[in-house]
Amino acid sequence: MPSVHPLLNADLHCHSTVSDGTLEPEALAARARARGVELWALTDHDEVSGLVRARAAARQLGLPWLSGCEISVSFASVTVHIVGLGFDADDVALREGLARTRSGREARAREMAAGLAQVGIHGAFEGALPYVGNPELISRTHFARFLVERGHCADTGEVFRRYLTEGKPGYVEHRWAKLGDAVRWIGDAGGIAVIAHPARYKFTPTEEYALFSEFKAHGGRGVEVLTGSHSAAEALKYGEMALEFGLLASRGSDFHSPEESRTDLGSLPDLPGRLTPVWQALADRVEWPAQ
Ligand code: AMP
Ligand code: MN
Ligand code: MN
Ligand code: MN
Repeated sequence: MPSVHPLLNADLHCHSTVSDGTLEPEALAARARARGVELWALTDHDEVSGLVRARAAARQLGLPWLSGCEISVSFASVTVHIVGLGFDADDVALREGLARTRSGREARAREMAAGLAQVGIHGAFEGALPYVGNPELISRTHFARFLVERGHCADTGEVFRRYLTEGKPGYVEHRWAKLGDAVRWIGDAGGIAVIAHPARYKFTPTEEYALFSEFKAHGGRGVEVLTGSHSAAEALKYGEMALEFGLLASRGSDFHSPEESRTDLGSLPDLPGRLTPVWQALADRVEWPAQ
């Protein structure tokens, strides 16, 4: 088995048109390769149907590859994202769990559109649809792109701030998967569960400690230390948390789109040396290109 160097340029978090990214899986694989990524995982929201294409593209490019997904979870009334890596993508319980997690999205999107209509933005459901690549995965991001196209806001960040976050007209409370279920689906399918971008959640220190403790108790094994949404100080903080909780450290850009994402594929700094990279525990799950 090829060795997995701790300083490998791994990018284990990004999105394609199968969820709310703007590039097809093949284009993402090519971009990852061109930008020097040495181990790549596509992690679409609540969905593994892009993985067959991602794997084939990676193989053709000689790019080492891991299966991946990003599961939406409700924890203490906050939406938390759990990345799964290196699982068997044909696992039935995982696929059924993800299908259930996706199933409320269309009704939620219609409610979001109704909320936006109340502030004078009409036809948002139909307007978002042309941006949707997977009918089972209508996301807030697709609404954001429509609102930018219509000139309501200058960019998607502004749409989220003004319309799509808690207390704003297009925000709809939603119940996603349970933390323990998501961690179990990934673990039982042979993969490793990772807390995605921990600095993004609005938790008190006590709630954050509860998330890490419960995640670990359910069998969760990793945390993203380096992501496109962490500052240098946040990366330091979650590196310390990884050590405190005995978690493996992950690294991923969370790239969605050349036009929208600030952090491109393969452009994060190296993980600090005292952390154990998640890919060291996944060496036997990586698909290495034929020599
Ligand atoms: P959803 O799963 O439909 O709730 O959409 C969540 C997605 O919205 C995230 O994965 C991000 O891609 C995007 N998102 C969330 N917050 C923001 C933000 N403040 N600015 C831009 N995109 C965001
Ligand atoms: Mn997203
Ligand atoms: Mn996320
Ligand atoms: Mn993501």
